[in-house]
Amino acid sequence: MKIVEDSTPSTIIQPNFNFKNLASKLRNAKTEKEQLQLLQGMHERLWHAPVHETQMMLHVLGLPIEIIRLALKIPKSCPHCNKYRLPKHKPLIKSSLTLRFNQVH
Ligand SMILES: [Zn+2]
Repeated sequence: MKIVEDSTPSTIIQPNFNFKNLASKLRNAKTEKEQLQLLQGMHERLWHAPVHETQMMLHVLGLPIEIIRLALKIPKSCPHCNKYRLPKHKPLIKSSLTLRFNQVH
């Protein structure tokens, strides 16, 4: 059985490092892509901060929950974080289900 890992990033986001009035820029961004670019820039500027730290900072800025939830997408799309991400665990046990009476595997 071949295990296929989902290690490919969905899309690479070009970061935006212009942090002047970051909170208002995040609130007033017209598209989700602009918000993701700002969040990616913030993520890289903070030495690739983990999600919970990024979300805590966004919470302190008083941003709405929709923007805070967007921060979940950042480490998956960050090429640098994906490079050092641990591989997923292989299943250690195998199970089977008997579908008929007296079925032997
Ligand atoms: Zn990163």
